[in-house]
Amino acid sequence: MGSELIQIIVANQPGLPGAPRSSSAAAGEAASFAAWGQVKERTATAEAWGAGRRPGPANAGQPPETVATAGTLKTFYIETFGCQMNVHDSEKVQGVLMARGMTRVENHHEADLVLYNTCSIREKAAQKVFSRLGVFRKGRTGSRKVIGVLGCVAQQEGERFFERAPQVSLVCGSASYSKLPQLLDQLETGKQRLTGLALDTEECFETEMTRRDNPFRAYLTIIEGCDQRCSFCVVPMTRGPERSRPSGRILAEARRLVDQGYTEIQLLGQIVNAWHDPSPARLSFAELLSRVAEIPGIRRVRFTTSHPRYFTSDIVQAIDANPNLCDQIHLPVQSGSTTVLARMLRGYTREEYLEKIHAIRQARRAISLSTDIIVGFCGETGKDFEQTLSLLKEVEYDQVFSFKYSKRPNTLVEGSRDALAEEEKGRRLAELQELQRQIQVRRNQALLGESFEVLVEGYQARLGQAVGRSTTNRVLNFPGTPEDVGRYLTVKVTSAGPNSLVGARAGSADLRF
Ligand code: SAM
Repeated sequence: MGSELIQIIVANQPGLPGAPRSSSAAAGEAASFAAWGQVKERTATAEAWGAGRRPGPANAGQPPETVATAGTLKTFYIETFGCQMNVHDSEKVQGVLMARGMTRVENHHEADLVLYNTCSIREKAAQKVFSRLGVFRKGRTGSRKVIGVLGCVAQQEGERFFERAPQVSLVCGSASYSKLPQLLDQLETGKQRLTGLALDTEECFETEMTRRDNPFRAYLTIIEGCDQRCSFCVVPMTRGPERSRPSGRILAEARRLVDQGYTEIQLLGQIVNAWHDPSPARLSFAELLSRVAEIPGIRRVRFTTSHPRYFTSDIVQAIDANPNLCDQIHLPVQSGSTTVLARMLRGYTREEYLEKIHAIRQARRAISLSTDIIVGFCGETGKDFEQTLSLLKEVEYDQVFSFKYSKRPNTLVEGSRDALAEEEKGRRLAELQELQRQIQVRRNQALLGESFEVLVEGYQARLGQAVGRSTTNRVLNFPGTPEDVGRYLTVKVTSAGPNSLVGARAGSADLRF
């Protein structure tokens, strides 16, 4: 999900060169958005600072000690925070670095170049990078590492980053990743305080090489940026305007992934179903799904994150027509109250959202549904919150990612005074999560005795358990062996908890790739 906001230390993929062991609008354009487009790319030069100058202890805002000289960047460490888009961006960044002959290392101590790919969707996520950077303060490591910050916090803070964290040499937002090779060239020659902050791009981040971390599921970006401007969300300001990749490129990448042995592909975009084909083929999103699913060798296709506004019935028809389009849809609703949805500038009402859910429920296969909810948005009354609870009861999602509203810079509601007290937000979140827990227990227990095909993604030696995932994105644990990893197996559900199922193998392996 676009909402699986987890911290990920990107794992190595076995078999790759240099890879050690595997580890693991809506209406209402407002002044706040004037910030968009004002951020200009500025590439500072080493001359501006003078070679060899060092910051004193009180010199916050001075150039860092971490100075590279030509050809010294041989190893890199990268840590990723946030959504799948960030994870996949990091995979592509690693491809760029490896294509330069650099080797990935597992901890920052061994790295010449340390990169943090950041998330700013909520305040807490944004703070993480500053705590990481604390390690590299003057005198703490004594190294001459180059430190770079990528992603949403980089874009949001821009050049202010150098004041807050003078140990940083590179600040680059995702809309400027296509300039990374040039920025790396400059870092290699000892230049510092480099930025890639332009947002007015029409380019997507295309790489010759991508170092994929998950040996089973390959991410494939089809659209970058976001034009939605939901009033709570920082993404349009940090990822720039929407850029769709041409269908030909997407299909060619999907075929290459099959050639490399992947059988599951997840199409990615902040608003994946806002994708439109800029090529003369002019495929619709639903047609693209079918074309990817038709590629011989592809066994599972997922896509995330869909926006209700662009969710059309032809997507359900495509799932009906192509058994390898997974029976799983993530459709963030954010609130069950039409009043709150209007204030969020989501572009749909509660009733319109429920009509889409109804269309999904008419599909030939039972489609698993998940969503994102924000509780305690500015001005959310007790009644509004009750409506969110009633929506949960009505839809009966299989999974809900729920968050307390977090005020974000440059969003339309940043200055709003009707924010709820943290304590009340926490109370509402707990109530909502308890309700959803009960729904999930009930829904999962209804699956007892049913069999699912799972792709085995892991093995827990301590428990002797294999961990597989169904097409509906359910996690199933069952007694297995390390050899099961990578296989498609049939597993029968024997017990059920709120978040996962336990099962027993019901069929023999039918494919190993
Ligand atoms: N682009 C997707 C969309 O609009 O549906 C998802 C974007 S975001 C990475 C994932 C989720 O984070 C959102 O669906 C929303 O529930 C949550 N989120 C975004 N901004 C937030 C904020 N300011 N406070 C709390 N949660 C937020």
